Amino acid sequence: MSDGLAAARASLERLVLDVHDFPEPGIVFKDITPLLADHDAFRTVIEALASAGRDADGNVVVDKVAGMEARGFILAAPVALALGIGFVPVRKVGKLPRETHAVSFALEYGEATLELHRDAVAPGDRVLMVDDVLATGGTVRATRELIEACGATAHAVAVLMELGFLPGRETIGDLSVTTLMTV
Ligand code: AMP
Repeated sequence: MSDGLAAARASLERLVLDVHDFPEPGIVFKDITPLLADHDAFRTVIEALASAGRDADGNVVVDKVAGMEARGFILAAPVALALGIGFVPVRKVGKLPRETHAVSFALEYGEATLELHRDAVAPGDRVLMVDDVLATGGTVRATRELIEACGATAHAVAVLMELGFLPGRETIGDLSVTTLMTV
């Protein structure tokens, strides 16, 4: 394990809090706000996530970073700055002001719709998706579909944490996944 990844894991173990029965009974919510409030820890995890957009020699191999509302925004924007490329927001339905692509998917209870501006990524762009938690994988799969609807390629996904007891990896198929920690 690289020094950077080990430091990122140590930060996550220290500064992500488990909140039981939030937002509903039976859910253990991963609260990353203490991590975000710690400058060194925040910088460490951003660098570790950004490595998913570089090759083994350190060259940047993606053109855009997409963040999923809402905690994905907080992580994806500094990852984009670290890589020297642009950030694009994937938003809940009705928030983006211009023409969008939209994808609906099943949640544990009910349905969600995510949107991406049609011109947010260009045909041929390679896009790194960034979020805090990979749970069932529905959010990542929908985001990938949005990116592909624009003619771009979903290069990889990078998340702080993966919930290993849920089938996130199966849902997202052959996509390359960088996870700083599996819980
Ligand atoms: P999913 O689509 O099921 O993979 O869920 C991923 C999205 O839901 C991410 O955007 C997470 O922010 C959020 N999420 C799911 N489970 C949790 C959890 N246990 N703690 C915090 N956020 C979660």
